[in-house]
Amino acid sequence: MKTNRIFKTPKSARLFAKAKAVIPGGVNSPVRAFQSVGGIPLFIEKALGPYLMDADGHRFIDYVLSWGPMIVGHAHPQVIKAIQMAIKKGTSYGAPCEGEIELAKTMVQMVPSLEQVRLVNSGTEAVMSAVRVARAYTQRPRILKFEGCYHGHADYLLVKAGSGLATLGIPDSPGVPEAIANLTITAPYNDFRVTQTMIESHAADLAAVIIEPIAGNMGVVPPHPEFLPWLREITARHEILLIFDEVITGFRVHKGGAQGLFGIQPDLTCLGKIIGGGFPIGAYGGRKDVMQLVAPAGPVYQAGTLSGNPVAVAAGLETLRLLKRPGFYNDLEAKARELAEGLADAAKSARVPYYQTRMGSMLTGFFTHEPVTDYASAKKADTGRYAKFFHGMLKRGSYFAPSQFEATFLSTAHKDSHIRQTIAAARAVFQTLD
Ligand SMILES: *Cc1c(COP(=O)(O)O)cnc(C)c1O
Repeated sequence: MKTNRIFKTPKSARLFAKAKAVIPGGVNSPVRAFQSVGGIPLFIEKALGPYLMDADGHRFIDYVLSWGPMIVGHAHPQVIKAIQMAIKKGTSYGAPCEGEIELAKTMVQMVPSLEQVRLVNSGTEAVMSAVRVARAYTQRPRILKFEGCYHGHADYLLVKAGSGLATLGIPDSPGVPEAIANLTITAPYNDFRVTQTMIESHAADLAAVIIEPIAGNMGVVPPHPEFLPWLREITARHEILLIFDEVITGFRVHKGGAQGLFGIQPDLTCLGKIIGGGFPIGAYGGRKDVMQLVAPAGPVYQAGTLSGNPVAVAAGLETLRLLKRPGFYNDLEAKARELAEGLADAAKSARVPYYQTRMGSMLTGFFTHEPVTDYASAKKADTGRYAKFFHGMLKRGSYFAPSQFEATFLSTAHKDSHIRQTIAAARAVFQTLD
């Protein structure tokens, strides 16, 4: 392994130039391009345990973990073995197979509110499908989402809030017709008053309220302790379905997801990321009376050529088996606490304004001295300072997310020595930030 001190990435630079010729922006998902931190994205050659290895031969302790899925680390021997066994039996059938039942059964057993579940191929697809079922069930068109929550890139979910008491959605992206964005209303995360106003004034045509029960896509923002119980109560009162988007939090914060952690039962749940063990997958499920509307049991159409793919299912099942082991989440929790406390302490020593959030093994250090409770307060973070932190850490061998508004994730492959190494690097980097 080369030392990362002399940090040059000529191979990544060459690959990025080539990629840009044939792929828009050189990447297949925007945040990978390092635009918000500047510089050239690293092209990855391989990943093993807690490490990423780039094309120029550098090794990094990985705190992105493919944006969450790799909770047992990269290329876990048991997951690889399960994939190899599966792959020998063919890679897609377009017909049902037994593994799908096992994965569905495992999810139903582990996630409290799931009675039935349908597999899809991404988190985006899971959310799209859950919203369609919610609209069919309630026979209402509108949905409410929270500012700063990401639910995949379906048209009506690419809606950013306007300022203040934003009412009707403004499309976040060209290509999203206003007529469609108008079906989405938004409220600030953790804001009881605005949420109540929005729900009460739109109750008659509101199909669902969708929320990340722990926000992970504006950086990690935990819910106010009363917010989710209150949301459960008010949605039920108005016969609006409550959808938990647990694409990140599912199997991340607890073996029953955020709903298991908090003891709240949504009507529908979206899953993804961890349940594929690194393969493309998603799932949506919940109350049986609602899920029975999905074709062919019911009239709501939703399908997928590769859905329930036997290799993805095998990788996901093995991952879920591993995290059922006793002590799995305690171990993650302890290491995440150590990392969060170490980073916060390093910031404090260097007198850098910093606000640390954490729920289980997902955390964010915001470069602001004010508490972060919603999108507006998250946005106060100094992204320039984050960019410096990011590049300083990269140079010293730790790969954090290339944006302030993302989560830092841990896996069970991260050992105390990795955490200590990262904290030591952070101590040095924070000294350069004031
Ligand atoms: C990642 C994510 C999605 C989208 O999942 P994809 O597999 O990227 O389509 C949806 N919701 C949340 C909360 C996510 O973090």
